[in-house]
Amino acid sequence: MAVPVRVRFAPSPTGKVHAGNIHTAIFDYLLARHTGGTFILRIEDTDVGRKEEGAVEHMMEALKWLGLDWDEGPGIGGPYAPYYQSQRLPLYKEAVEKLVAQGDAYYCYCSSERLEAMRKEQEARKQPTGYDRACRDLTPEQRKAKEAEGIKPVVRFKVPLEGHADFHDLIYGDITFEYKNIDDFVMLKSDGYPTYHLANVVDDTAMKITHVIRGEEWISSTPRHLLMYKAFGYTPPVYVHMPMIVGADRAKLSKRRGAISILEYRDMGYLPEALFNFLVLIGWSLDDKTEIMTHQQIVENFSLERMGRVAAAFNQEKLDWMNGVYIRNLNPDELTDRLMPFLEKYLPPEVKRPLDVDYIKQIVPLIKERIITLKDAADYASFFFVDELQYDPAKFVDKKTDTAMALKALKSAEEKLTPLASFDKDQLESALRALAEALGIKAGQLFNSLRVAITASDATPPIFETMAALGKERCLKRIQSAISILEKN
Ligand code: GLU
Repeated sequence: MAVPVRVRFAPSPTGKVHAGNIHTAIFDYLLARHTGGTFILRIEDTDVGRKEEGAVEHMMEALKWLGLDWDEGPGIGGPYAPYYQSQRLPLYKEAVEKLVAQGDAYYCYCSSERLEAMRKEQEARKQPTGYDRACRDLTPEQRKAKEAEGIKPVVRFKVPLEGHADFHDLIYGDITFEYKNIDDFVMLKSDGYPTYHLANVVDDTAMKITHVIRGEEWISSTPRHLLMYKAFGYTPPVYVHMPMIVGADRAKLSKRRGAISILEYRDMGYLPEALFNFLVLIGWSLDDKTEIMTHQQIVENFSLERMGRVAAAFNQEKLDWMNGVYIRNLNPDELTDRLMPFLEKYLPPEVKRPLDVDYIKQIVPLIKERIITLKDAADYASFFFVDELQYDPAKFVDKKTDTAMALKALKSAEEKLTPLASFDKDQLESALRALAEALGIKAGQLFNSLRVAITASDATPPIFETMAALGKERCLKRIQSAISILEKN
């Protein structure tokens, strides 16, 4: 039995969450559920300038919608609350003071103007940029003088001048970084807020995180974190850096490059279980061939060992296909429930609300083969609901059928259908096949004319079922309208 892990998803609330940034949450969640461990949500909101109003709420809604329920965190609490870093400032202060006292960190009074000028000079000399450690060895008197000037310092970590950090990443293997290439990085800013590095290490330790799963862009931060773990005397977690999801062009998905927010997928009518399955496959596979997997199957079989090192691209066509599969796998009642809000919202305003659920249940089996998203249904199925169709007379005409023939077919159909007592699919089929024969035309020609008359479209669900669902009165009315359009034409 696997050892229960403690994992955290630690988003910075700087915008709307998209597939690229929620991806790691899925793997946190899976590892926690697979091992009977704990999935923690921690909000890394220490970058005051980049914080965005509503981003946390948006994030939580997206996680819930995808079924990624957290065990500790905002809204739930837990033994290591608070789970917002902005509410944990005293802990970070205490931690840096400890490092300063033991000589692993120091106060730096350099102004941003000085740092900027230094960077420009380094660039001009084509030197690597980085802090020149001017404040690293200030004497107590020099420090006092700076304090007396009223300068609020930052706290920097004293990175060893030589040696290296070595660590093992479960996906990327053994990694080494030379200390000489690492800057004396800032841990605490002059406004009292920690940087990502400090807060991350302090909280991962305080919250007893066993595995850190995060994007590969954080690999280069890891040696800094390890230096802090060592200085604090804490044990570092296991690291699992994940390849970044890329777009079809293999470039990074990003907010700027039009990555769609997770809740937009919801609003477009993707099913959360389909998107979950799809995102799992970008990073993990059961056996390199199975595509459609239940939630339970994924949780049961999940293993870090089968996580890939190469990011799969976000393939929209595959997501569409998968959504269609999930839609078709829903039973009619479930699909009706899921469709209702979309139909209520997107069917034309003239359609009477509230919609008739029983009628929709009848239609659902007819449309489910053809829709990709729930939202599509409103468009595709609108002819089932509206009173007046907009006909395009050209649709009645094809290689074998001219307008006169279509008109004749529709008039005869009207005559044939008017006396019918029952309007079920079998009756309709036998009556109309007999009619085609009597008219001496191919059944397909008759059915095409009828299809256009009944739906105003030539790509629709099976015609007899469609007519049965619409009912006799509506069908006859439509046939009459089509006739008068063709007569005017
Ligand atoms: N706050 C970081 C982010 O937004 C967390 C990185 C990590 O998981 O350590 O991605």
